[in-house]
Amino acid sequence: MGCFSARYDFLSPQRIVFGWGRRSEVGVWAKTLGRRALVVHGSRTLERSGTLEELAERLRTEGVEPVLMASIGHEPEVEDVDRLAARVRELGPRQGDLVIAMGGGSAIDLAKAGAAMATNTTGPSVKDYLEGVGPGLSLDADPLPMLAIPTTAGTGSEATRNAVISSQAPPFKKSLRSDRMVPRVVIIDPELHISVPRATTAHTGMDAMTQLIESYLSNRAASIPQALCLQGLSLAAPAILRAVQEPRDREARERMAHGALLSGLALANSGLGLAHGVAAALGIHARVPHGLACAVLLPVAMRVNRAVREADLARIGEVLHGREFSTRAAACDAALAKVEELCAGAEIPNRLSAIGVARDDLPAIVKSSYGNSMSGNPRKVSEEELLGLLEEIW
Ligand code: NAD
Repeated sequence: MGCFSARYDFLSPQRIVFGWGRRSEVGVWAKTLGRRALVVHGSRTLERSGTLEELAERLRTEGVEPVLMASIGHEPEVEDVDRLAARVRELGPRQGDLVIAMGGGSAIDLAKAGAAMATNTTGPSVKDYLEGVGPGLSLDADPLPMLAIPTTAGTGSEATRNAVISSQAPPFKKSLRSDRMVPRVVIIDPELHISVPRATTAHTGMDAMTQLIESYLSNRAASIPQALCLQGLSLAAPAILRAVQEPRDREARERMAHGALLSGLALANSGLGLAHGVAAALGIHARVPHGLACAVLLPVAMRVNRAVREADLARIGEVLHGREFSTRAAACDAALAKVEELCAGAEIPNRLSAIGVARDDLPAIVKSSYGNSMSGNPRKVSEEELLGLLEEIW
């Protein structure tokens, strides 16, 4: 018998509503959480296409009053959260308020942080609650209940208990984290993903793939997340390039949306690794979009961890290829080859210099890489070794 750990916690949204066109049910589900919906949205495309107005109309039909609070077109920063929290307080939060986020990971994270700051007022700024930044205040009150509608298939933020918040001065990209922050209801409608630009489909899709692989290999890996990772990889790997090349392909969009959700459930319950640790640093120092940074770092992380996770990496190789290999080494080689093939097919560069990273910034990038994600990496990697690894792919 192999090893099995029978001691775990598993955290997830209370309800996941998944399916093509199911955004039409938003009013019905919002009504289970409250009567006034504070709406945060991301993409302007969804505003222009009338999707936002459609959402407001569905809410009104069910007796839920929509209030547009904020929109965001970049990864959220401390000021964005503080501004949103101030607006919520001005409005006068009341019993029956809920927060709805419709957007990519950036909009969902802004909304998650805003919902938490609306009810937790000990510190004046979200900065006071972030991990490893200020006094590290805890979220003692439940955030406003939240309904999330992701419009990208990547971060899985709709199913996680953190929001990633950045700052430029001083530079950091850190999480606000609490079990209380998991959205209560999630509506995943892959039809909303059709309008995602080609490069963003590639980057966000590789973010999901990275999360599935890093969670599977993490030093906090556990039974349920690992099962989810394998299903996510088997569905997403054959679909990612099709979603990039044929944006309207329904099955490809469904596979990617489901894979991204599973990646969020997995990471929330088992952590990540080196690729995500460095990706946060690349976001701060070179403003590299999160998914693109993950994709460039994923092969490095797989190579680094191969020696301590050979059997698991071999299993990933089998799942990515849908077949067995004669040796573990061959299956590990095949896992790496598949990831590199997908990155190349999605036109993702394999050098840091090609994504706007300055060589002189590498030491600072190394220093900023050791956050919560890196702590899940199965093999400890020193700063000196990491610098060497980044120089190799510069
Ligand atoms: P994003 O939300 O920044 O969106 C990328 C771009 O795509 C934006 O310009 C956006 O307006 C546009 N867009 C989104 N949906 C669209 C649609 N349907 N049609 C057309 N355009 C659309 O990108 P993302 O990768 O989804 O989120 C990245 C953020 O999420 C980062 O800050 C990252 O750190 C964070 N993240 C959070 C978690 C978590 O668990 N909280 C996990 C992973 C990543």
